[in-house]
Amino acid sequence: MNIALIAHDKKKELMIEFTKKHRDFFCKHQLFATGTTGQLIIDHTQLQVHRVKSGPLGGDQQIGALISDEKMDLVIFFRDPLTAQPHEPDVSALIRLCDVYNIPLATNIGTANYLLGYASSRE
Ligand code: PGA
Repeated sequence: MNIALIAHDKKKELMIEFTKKHRDFFCKHQLFATGTTGQLIIDHTQLQVHRVKSGPLGGDQQIGALISDEKMDLVIFFRDPLTAQPHEPDVSALIRLCDVYNIPLATNIGTANYLLGYASSRE
């Protein structure tokens, strides 16, 4: 699968722990991430990650373009619901495109664990 990983700043620690915990799963898939999230995942897990631009600089839109090109199979986007984001329109657009293309999307750790459990059971 092609999997997108994105985390807002206050959720980056969570993303690092999540990708470390599920490293055996993620190493079997193609990973894409926004710039800062991707670099942190690489630094902490040594997983291979294709990084696009940082979210506020257009990275969410680049991930959105991959979704609309039907190149993304799963999106894990740990968004911060308690902090205003300068690129909120991009965040909404990305979530919207997941719904347009029926791409499984986790916006919190509860759903992410659930989706990974399901995806692992099908391997
Ligand atoms: P970042 O972007 O991984 O470059 O921080 C994430 C975002 O804010 O959408």
